[in-house]
Amino acid sequence: MCTVCGCADAHDHAGGHDHDHKHDHQHHHHHAHGHDDHHHHHGHDHDHHHSHGTHDYGAGLAGVHVPGMSQERIVQVERDILAKNDGHAAANRARLAAAGVFALNFVSSPGSGKTSLLVRTISDLKDKFPIAVIEGDQQTANDAERIRATGAPAIQVNTGKGCHLDAHMVGHALDALPLEPGGLMFIENVGNLVCPAAFDLGEAHKVVVLSVTEGEDKPLKYPDMFAAADLMLINKVDLLPHLDFDLARTIEYARRINPRIEVLLVSARSGEGLPAFYAWIAKRADAARSAAKAAE
Ligand code: MG
Repeated sequence: MCTVCGCADAHDHAGGHDHDHKHDHQHHHHHAHGHDDHHHHHGHDHDHHHSHGTHDYGAGLAGVHVPGMSQERIVQVERDILAKNDGHAAANRARLAAAGVFALNFVSSPGSGKTSLLVRTISDLKDKFPIAVIEGDQQTANDAERIRATGAPAIQVNTGKGCHLDAHMVGHALDALPLEPGGLMFIENVGNLVCPAAFDLGEAHKVVVLSVTEGEDKPLKYPDMFAAADLMLINKVDLLPHLDFDLARTIEYARRINPRIEVLLVSARSGEGLPAFYAWIAKRADAARSAAKAAE
């Protein structure tokens, strides 16, 4: 359970409703029915007759709702968690910079093709850069095994109930990986577009991967992630001829949230667009190393 990102709240509501939960205010929920509704473990009921309405749980100070906690208390808890995380992230960043390693934090929904993209990227770049990988998933070591099959070292971090990697976990993973000068560290976060947005891992950039089999409006639905990312990779573009996906609209939505976000169209399967991604990595890695040298 993760208070800071509100995913406990999202989980409690999963499957119980086919409408969004949005109320105009935080703690005056209408008790519309007296029967026991097993979806409502947290003790307040909603008026299910508002099927066309919008219930906004993010309108308060904290931007998230946790049953039994005031908005002020949630904000305090979040500040404490994020302050600790930011301390670990700063240590990771300093350590990576000192080692001359350029780190990217890949975030997306499950199924966007992050692991396939990394496998292809490593295969194409491993003769140019030493590359190591940190894989975040709730369970299994499947993705780290896929990465290791390329010959790159990889550490699997299983987060259990956790919905994101944090900087402390990444620090431990860095202990177990080679940090080679001029190297790349790819961090594949747990697949979701919510929680990983808030957690700095010490990376140089967050890279958000959105595949063309997803909805065009994801940047609007999950704005925190698109605001936090410096690059959006639109993946699986080899499938575009078979889909009604509107590329221009997706890019417009992402830029509405983050006017500075760079966008590249790629396919991990066909390889199209990947040279531009590799050029982006090389350019950004050079820039990060120059900045680190200048700061010495
Ligand atoms: Mg994966």
